[in-house]
Amino acid sequence: MITNNFAYHAPTDLDGVVAALSAASGPAVVLGGGTMLVPDMTHGRTVADVVVDLSRAGLSGITLDGGVVVAGATTTYAHVLADPRARELTPLLCRVAGGVTGGPQIRNKGTIGGSACYANPSSEVPAALVALGARLRLASAGGVREVAAEDFFTGAFATARRSDEVLAAIALPTPDGARPGYVKLKLAESSWPIATAACVPGPDGALRVALGAVAATPLLLTLDPPEAGAADPAWRAYVREVVAAVLTEPWSDVLADGEYRRRVAPVVAARAVADALQAEGES
Ligand SMILES: Cc1cc2nc3c(=O)[nH]c(=O)nc-3n(C[C@H](O)[C@H](O)[C@H](O)COP(=O)(O)OP(=O)(O)OC[C@H]3O[C@@H](n4cnc5c(N)ncnc54)[C@H](O)[C@@H]3O)c2cc1C
Repeated sequence: MITNNFAYHAPTDLDGVVAALSAASGPAVVLGGGTMLVPDMTHGRTVADVVVDLSRAGLSGITLDGGVVVAGATTTYAHVLADPRARELTPLLCRVAGGVTGGPQIRNKGTIGGSACYANPSSEVPAALVALGARLRLASAGGVREVAAEDFFTGAFATARRSDEVLAAIALPTPDGARPGYVKLKLAESSWPIATAACVPGPDGALRVALGAVAATPLLLTLDPPEAGAADPAWRAYVREVVAAVLTEPWSDVLADGEYRRRVAPVVAARAVADALQAEGES
């Protein structure tokens, strides 16, 4: 049960959200789908005087705007999976949405923006946004600013978002037809990931790979493509070296300790590359 009293606002547009946040005299929180926030408030981990609900603010949907794919912050996993344009405009987010566990409740209520703002190291959306080179649009009374995904995730459960800002949308580069690769290593069918890797081939042939769930924040690697195939031992050794250089403080939680994550991270990265290149990776 949530024991403290709070003011509840459900504005019908972004201006209303921003106004409610800037008028708040005490701690204010933004409510997306509530899959994390409601349990946090129920257990007293988050205490707020003001709750600003985004559900009526019109921030959902995936559109193409001036050559940029824009995902509204309250776009749910279910929306991503049901929208036929999403497959064409953002195939990587479709892969991520298809693998999120928790059943229909999480797919129908959990939002892309909520996952980004919660910044749980074990979540999948942050690393996917980093791999895509996404830009997060943060709105406040002072206007709108964009933050690159690489700079947005500043630590475990920490982001560059200020408390008076709402994440309104996420801008994604227009897909160039290259097939993204995505791999999620998990303990059981229903579990959160132990490690994820998202691979987005760049126009110059280099591979942009973001590792998720292995450190406090997503880790971005740039890999040369495997000329002799993703199973080539020399290329695998090269991936291990690149990963070891960035994975200095692996994440530990109940699913796996840091040492395990350190060992599997290069394997998952190589598999994502193999997936992107539609090659069969060696496990
Ligand atoms: C049983 C279960 C299984 C799960 N499995 C997976 C999994 O396999 N993979 C995975 O990646 N994730 C998984 N998740 C996590 C899930 O992806 C997140 O719970 C969900 O995306 C969070 O979105 P939300 O809209 O519900 O966030 P909320 O709970 O509404 O909010 C989360 C936090 O972000 C803030 N916030 C939300 N939206 C905004 C915004 N637009 N602007 C500013 N701040 C905002 C809130 O104030 C709060 O601090 C699972 C969760 C559960 C409960």
